[in-house]
Order: sequence, then structure tokens, then C-alpha cells
Amino acid sequence: MKEQLHTIPIADAMANAGECSLCYIERKTEEHMMDFVLGHGASYMEADIRDMTDREGFCRAHFKKMFDYGNSLGNAWILKTLYMRHLEEMDREFKNFKPDSAGKKGGIFGKKETKGNSIADWIRRRDSSCFICTSVKNTFLAYMKTFFHMYKTDPDFRRQVAETKGFCLTHFAVLCETADSALPAQEREEFYRVMLPLMRENFSRITEDVSWFIEKYDYKNKDADWRDSKDAIQRGMQKLKGSDPSLPPHVLKK
Ligand SMILES: [Zn+2]
Ligand SMILES: [Zn+2]
Repeated sequence: MKEQLHTIPIADAMANAGECSLCYIERKTEEHMMDFVLGHGASYMEADIRDMTDREGFCRAHFKKMFDYGNSLGNAWILKTLYMRHLEEMDREFKNFKPDSAGKKGGIFGKKETKGNSIADWIRRRDSSCFICTSVKNTFLAYMKTFFHMYKTDPDFRRQVAETKGFCLTHFAVLCETADSALPAQEREEFYRVMLPLMRENFSRITEDVSWFIEKYDYKNKDADWRDSKDAIQRGMQKLKGSDPSLPPHVLKK
């Protein structure tokens, strides 16, 4: 067996690539994290895990996914200590807040070094961290290393990548950044020579799919074939921002 354990998710992703194989990797990683946080393993009952989730909190998108996951008691446990942590921080922030110095020297039109509102700063700090986002991002970056290891060492894999429909724009940015550090100059040139036309070609394909979707609403085309346009909306959205919006939520396994 040539295939190593850590390369399996990448091979899986290539087989289920759709509009972006990295969206597949990201989704599987996120589902795994959701199961870890809220699933039957009951990580939410472990003090050290809860300490991490209390510290980082969750973003709006992941609260929505946690709500849809369907473990109400698990969510209640997570929220309880997260609220206790917020109360502690709130007491500290409110006590130290000085209304008379808040917003002085400029506000949004002022210089960069002007003092903002310390309460708003605390909330923004909270808003910019999410336990699931951070974990998914770290695992995703580890997979990117594996991706480029395979890309460098396995000509079959390189061919496979060239035969996909490219990547979503969001993940293409990560791909470009990783390529710059993972590939030596000559291989990098070869990589972009294949990738840039692949991206261009597939963006043009989606543009045509979306255009035909609109044409289909013209009564003169009502009996015409849908071609590949029936799911053009979700694919069009995924190609720009990642994540197929038509996918059902990931839920607790019964
Ligand atoms: Zn993607
Ligand atoms: Zn998040």
C-alpha cells in the first residue's frame, strides 16, 4: 500500500471534488470538529476542553451550525461556562471603563493611535475568535502541507489535480500562498502554468451555467435542456466564497 494514512482525506477529496476539492476537506474537518465539540464523545464535559471553548468562544456561523447540530443539552453545558467567563470579563471591563476618555482624540476619523472604546475593543476581540474556526484552520493548513507533498512527489496526483474543476476563490488564495512556500521556483512556475488557465476556464464555465439558468426562464426555452445549469446557483456561490450553500446541516448521529 503506497497510500499513507494522512493522504487518505486528500484522495477522498479528489474523488468528491465538485467545484473545489479543498471545500470538501474543509467541510469534513469542520464536521469532525463539530462531532468532537458536541458529539457522543462528550468533549463538552471535559474541563480542559471547556476551558478552551470558554476562552475562544464561537463565531455567529458556528453558533448556527451548533444549534442545527441538534444537541441541546450539550449546547447548554457549553453556554453555561461560556457565560460565566463572559460575566467575569464583563465585570473587569465595565469596572475599568472610563466614559470620559472613551472616543477622545478623533474617533473613526482620527489617527490610528487614538484610543478607542475599551468595551467595544473587548467585544471585538471576542468576536474575532472562534474555537471551531481556529481548529479547522489549523487542521486545514496541515492538510495543505500533505497536498503539496503529494503534488511534488506523485505525478498521478498532479495529473488528477489538473483534471479537476479547479478551486473556489477563497481556497485558491490559500493554495497560492502555500505553493509559494512549498514549491521551489521552477515547480512553482509549472504549478501556475497549469492552475491559472484551469481557474479561468472553470470561472468561465460557471458564468455560462448561470447565464443559461437565466435563459431557461425565457418561455421560448421552456422545453430546452437544462444542460448543467440546474444547480448553477449553489455552484456559483461556492466557486466565489467556498462551501456549497445547498448542503444540509451536519447533525448529531442518532
Ligand atoms: Zn473551496
Ligand atoms: Zn467559527
